[in-house]
Amino acid sequence: MIIRKKFRVNGIVQGVGFRPFIFSLASEMGLSGFILNSPSGVVIEAEGPEDLISGFQERLHSEAPPLTRILKCSSEEIPLKNEPGFIILKSEGGHESDTFISPDVTVCKNCLSEMRDPGDRRYRYPFINCTNCGPRFSIVHSIPYDRVNTSMKNFPLCPECRSEYESPLDRRFHAQPNACPVCGPSVSLEKSSGGSGKTYKEEFSSLSSREIVARVQEQLLNGSIVAVRGIGGFHLAVDAMNNEAVQRLRERKGREEKPFAVLARDVESIRRICTLSEAELAAVENWQRPIVLLKKSGKDCLAPSVAPENAYYGLMLPYSPLHYLLLDGPLRYLVMTSGNCTDEPIAISNQEARVRLSGIADYFLFHNREILQRCDDSIVRVADKNKLSLLRRSRGFVPNPVFIGKKSPERILACGPELKNTIAFLRDDQVFISQHIGDLDNPEAFKFFKHCISHLGKTLGIQPAFLAHDLHPEYLSTKWALGQNLPCLGVQHHHAHLASVLADNNLTGPAIGIILDGTGYGADGTIWGGEILAGDASGYERLSWLKPFRLPGGTMAIKQPWRIALSLLDQELGEDFRGIPLDFLSVPDEGQMDNLLKISRSGLNSPWTSSCGRLFDGVSALLGIKPVIAYEAQAAIAMEMSVAEDEKSFYPEAVNSNVLRGPIQLSALLRMIVGDLVKGIDKCIIAARFHNTLAEMFTSSALLAQKETGFRRVALSGGVYQNVFFSRRITAALEREGFEVITHTQVPGNDGGISLGQIAVAEKMIRR
Ligand SMILES: [Zn+2]
Ligand SMILES: [Zn+2]
Ligand SMILES: [Zn+2]
Repeated sequence: MIIRKKFRVNGIVQGVGFRPFIFSLASEMGLSGFILNSPSGVVIEAEGPEDLISGFQERLHSEAPPLTRILKCSSEEIPLKNEPGFIILKSEGGHESDTFISPDVTVCKNCLSEMRDPGDRRYRYPFINCTNCGPRFSIVHSIPYDRVNTSMKNFPLCPECRSEYESPLDRRFHAQPNACPVCGPSVSLEKSSGGSGKTYKEEFSSLSSREIVARVQEQLLNGSIVAVRGIGGFHLAVDAMNNEAVQRLRERKGREEKPFAVLARDVESIRRICTLSEAELAAVENWQRPIVLLKKSGKDCLAPSVAPENAYYGLMLPYSPLHYLLLDGPLRYLVMTSGNCTDEPIAISNQEARVRLSGIADYFLFHNREILQRCDDSIVRVADKNKLSLLRRSRGFVPNPVFIGKKSPERILACGPELKNTIAFLRDDQVFISQHIGDLDNPEAFKFFKHCISHLGKTLGIQPAFLAHDLHPEYLSTKWALGQNLPCLGVQHHHAHLASVLADNNLTGPAIGIILDGTGYGADGTIWGGEILAGDASGYERLSWLKPFRLPGGTMAIKQPWRIALSLLDQELGEDFRGIPLDFLSVPDEGQMDNLLKISRSGLNSPWTSSCGRLFDGVSALLGIKPVIAYEAQAAIAMEMSVAEDEKSFYPEAVNSNVLRGPIQLSALLRMIVGDLVKGIDKCIIAARFHNTLAEMFTSSALLAQKETGFRRVALSGGVYQNVFFSRRITAALEREGFEVITHTQVPGNDGGISLGQIAVAEKMIRR
């Protein structure tokens, strides 16, 4: 029997090759009808024998292109129309929900094999792409996503490319960045003059693109630093096996110890230096191509200065055709660190790179396809139970929305926190979170923040009616929000963390939140960061918190964690600690120590904090692991790297002193640690015991909170959970007590996920 069905498909189905897919599927099956993009999603009408229509419906889901995400697909039978064939109808545009833009996509297998085929017209062409792959978000300046609204508008299609672009059965049908060596972008090479912002290109101007790639490989092998223009910005590349060259990059970039990300030729190259589980392999090979943190195997290794004092490498596989070309030769690993000076956003234009990077790079590998949206590499790690955990959500993920289940009539912009800032827009049931913006105290990053707001708002067609911001009055994002002529809603930082992890899991019900991070402005004006909250997006109660301690010297204490160790010992153990033989006490001299204790006790420039991140820093210093740091969280990371992983014991004396609506005491914990140190117990064991004890302390607080509230669900959020050892231990302890444990999946648990939580909380405030 012949029937006709109308399908309405919602989700990420536009700009991802879904229409050509449906067209060829229907044509192949001999069905008639049409497909069209409408304001309410994709509409398909298909007519044919009943069994074929049901087969079509099945394959629509099972064979959809990789970037598609079908959230809803309704179907109804309608009267027959008897058309001759299947066609793609012109879009009914205009409405805002018509606008999804795909993230940038790693070059696909088909394009790669064409690129490697000497007979293909795109043989070794660095900008090859198709409907299923290539740049998207980073080359768009406005909607709709058509070539004229991208940086490809400067490259009119040659006849051959045009016919691919126009033919519905071609795999480049409507591929907006479609290009070839005849009509598309090209690479160029320049030499740095060494810091003046000048470059020389004369000696390279006659080289072909293949010769340029060969010349760059040669220079990299010689130890040169090359600034490489990529998809979302510039990288600084250097041979990762050449320690002297990596060291030079560190010196020139002003980045002393923080690990560098590395691009590896293939999976086999990764296996040579790292352990790789199934889940990690999947993360590495995913089309989003993030940097994946992988444990060093201890067998073969890269130059020592790539990731000093760290048990992990940050590795990724090539994602642009140019990366594949660069590694198609003797080079197996390249350091690929962001093309910036420390803390600045990455450079994206050729001129910007000349000015900002000429003191770092020896050569510049440019191209002329403009990057319109800066987008750093994303960073992930496989955490507990093979779950992917995002540390930085950028290229490959942005601008895909987080779906929150229920449509909201409100249009809200969340301005995010100060550090690791992202912003977010709410539209219907979708929260669009920006790429990683960075730390706003850097003037360039703050410019980028403002640019992101106007750009993302424009491309999504959203005019916010409300602004959500952090409670911290000194955050630049807060100040910016308050300076706009719109109603503003202040959201407490740790409440935003709790709401973020709930929204991330599409949950609206309440939970006990164990929110552990470095810094957040508390409702009482002090710095919070070790918080047991109970509630949901509509409200929270602070049920308990780490006992506050002072940060002598404020930000100085963050850079020199030995100050935190001193203040903790002085507060919890009293003056006596000075007689105890502790290694770290040799860091400050007597005068420095007296002075520090004086300001700490007087409270002068020594704010109170209940921060869990700072407690980790302090204990790391106390153990003599990292009394002074070079980058954020280094002390805690170094301690995590040193833990004796099999050590299960903890300090029971430290656990049972908790009360509800009061501080979690620290004195027993510190006394036990100092006792172990004096006994000469290995620091790796003490570090593990500290992690284990903290996990037990928070679990016992959660049990008290559960008695009071009846909640069986615990939500974990905050930068401290980037510590995998600690995350595993606290999750295991909570599950042992029968809790359901909720963690982040789609956004980072650090402050990169705050904007999502601000949206969720502000939405509830407006409804009230
Ligand atoms: Zn492709
Ligand atoms: Zn062409
Ligand atoms: Zn935070």
